[in-house]
Amino acid sequence: MNAKKNIRTLTLDELTQYFLSIGDKKFRAKQAWEWLWKKHAQSFEDMTNLSKELREKLADDFSLPSLRNDASQYSSDGTIKTRFKTVDGHLVEGVLIPVESRQTACVSSQVGCSLSCKFCATGFMDRKRNLHFDEIYDEVALLNEMAEKTYGKKLSNIVFMGMGEPLLNYKNVLKAIERITAPDGLGIGSKRITVSTSGISKMIRQLGDDGVKFNLALSLHAANDKKRSEIMPINETNNIKSLIDALNYFYEKTKNDITFEYILFKGENDSIQDADDLIKIYKQVPVHLVNIIEYNPIDEVDFVKPEKEATQKFMDYLAAHRVNVRLRISRGKDIDAACGQLANKDLDEKKATAIQH
Ligand code: SAH
Ligand code: SF4
Repeated sequence: MNAKKNIRTLTLDELTQYFLSIGDKKFRAKQAWEWLWKKHAQSFEDMTNLSKELREKLADDFSLPSLRNDASQYSSDGTIKTRFKTVDGHLVEGVLIPVESRQTACVSSQVGCSLSCKFCATGFMDRKRNLHFDEIYDEVALLNEMAEKTYGKKLSNIVFMGMGEPLLNYKNVLKAIERITAPDGLGIGSKRITVSTSGISKMIRQLGDDGVKFNLALSLHAANDKKRSEIMPINETNNIKSLIDALNYFYEKTKNDITFEYILFKGENDSIQDADDLIKIYKQVPVHLVNIIEYNPIDEVDFVKPEKEATQKFMDYLAAHRVNVRLRISRGKDIDAACGQLANKDLDEKKATAIQH
């Protein structure tokens, strides 16, 4: 194990103290800071406006662990799935989704997930560990670089809808978002960031107390406790009533957008009675939008996606009851990059492109 301190865990003040302590100038700290965050240097060697001796000194005193692109897969619809490798050898996935004027990054917050939702490929993996805030930052920075290189545009939106439950890695996710939004970081606006949660009531309230500025999506997927607990075990300890209360608290404190995510499963949650249950909840929370999500089949279970007509009927019924509803078409299906399909499947040899470093 490398016992050196990770330089990115230092604040700018601490970095300044360090430079003063080695008899260097204060402004060096600013330069190094800029390399670490804004310019996203992945090694001390990259910091070309620092002298060679200084770069060597930094490398002696600190480590700079960072995520590496391991391989990428390209979907016919332009979506790019990338597998990232952590310094200790874990694999996580991030997806770049180009849609019209948007470049959206879908990022992971944990290696695996502990919550075992029945329809989600990640839920069938164990949770190996939380991602550290600088690793989450790396995912976004690397996908940003990819967006610029491939599509000539920077990222416009970020969704925490990759692997893992962001609110069970609360501190790292918030710290990563602080760096992602900071002008001396990636400078991406908070309003363009959405954190998706399976619903941890206590942590939703915490987001309210912390006055966060990003948007929140609740993975609802079933609108009564019996059905929801069957597909999402987390509902047993965080029931719908507790989520309604927590979301109202979050909204009162932040006024940020709240979205409901609702995957349709044929014969499970797509009846008119289910729609009525959903409308009931919708009326109790200041929800900005209900996203109906197409189910992406996974190998482990035999849920089925309803026919187009059934999906339309469900949505029309909601709309007739003044629910702001939209269908979210999954992207990257041919490469298992769609929601719930991120589970480190072996990347198809033919499509995988190893990225050189
Ligand atoms: N853990 C968080 C964020 C990651 S999951 C959460 O659960 O919200 C991101 C989104 O993908 C969630 O809305 C999740 O419910 C959805 N999802 C999971 N499996 C899916 C599948 N097989 N098809 C479509 N969406 C899926
Ligand atoms: Fe985890 Fe979200 Fe998948 Fe549930 S849907 S298992 S919370 S990643």
